[in-house]
Amino acid sequence: MTRYGSLAELNRDLVGCRRCPRLVAWREEVARQKRAAFRDQEYWGRPVPGFGDPAGRLLVVGLAPAAHGANRTGRMFTGDRSGDWLYRALHTAGFASQPTASHADDGLELSGAYIAAPVHCAPPANRPTPSERDACSHWFVEEVRLAAPAVIVCLGQFGYVQALRALAALGRDLPRPRVRFGHGVEVPIPGGPTLLCSYHVSQQNTFTGKLTEAMLDAVFARARELLGNPRNGG
Ligand code: SF4
Repeated sequence: MTRYGSLAELNRDLVGCRRCPRLVAWREEVARQKRAAFRDQEYWGRPVPGFGDPAGRLLVVGLAPAAHGANRTGRMFTGDRSGDWLYRALHTAGFASQPTASHADDGLELSGAYIAAPVHCAPPANRPTPSERDACSHWFVEEVRLAAPAVIVCLGQFGYVQALRALAALGRDLPRPRVRFGHGVEVPIPGGPTLLCSYHVSQQNTFTGKLTEAMLDAVFARARELLGNPRNGG
């Protein structure tokens, strides 16, 4: 596995990755076909790099780019309803300069937080195959190593399991048996970081009320609290 000196260096290589034939075909097909509402826009149609403050001690981990969101705009969680939820909450908690994210040049900046994904290309039906997930893990493990977070907010079970796998690959001792994913569940890893679980900001969860704004705000408020704790380097 290539070891990079910085997240910026990693991202320069990542955006040229074509390792997964099915995902390469899908991301490019979506970028050609486009959704009617975005037909005048140039889609990104490539792997979506991580976004945020490379020195941030909070890492936010989702699943994969959305076909007409990040795969269109080229920035994580930008240009779709999931991003509306995430950036509003990050702004409320003081990690984002503005509550909205519409396109890559909208002026949004993160402070103290970086967003990564276990899979960097938009998958059909938001479901990468196990082999695609494993193919992308070399990028993700490197992102986790370079981000060196004190707290990881895991959006959804997929992100949680992949964060645990990345930490295991980096030589951390994980709690046994594995703690079950649930909203608000905290998993301190010996030597850091602390994992903080949240339901994913997908429309499936936000439209149905499974995840409310108050529930999401509570997760990022807790992340703030943990970052201020000396155990987490605060
Ligand atoms: Fe490369 Fe990851 Fe995209 Fe596969 S999902 S093509 S490994 S960036």
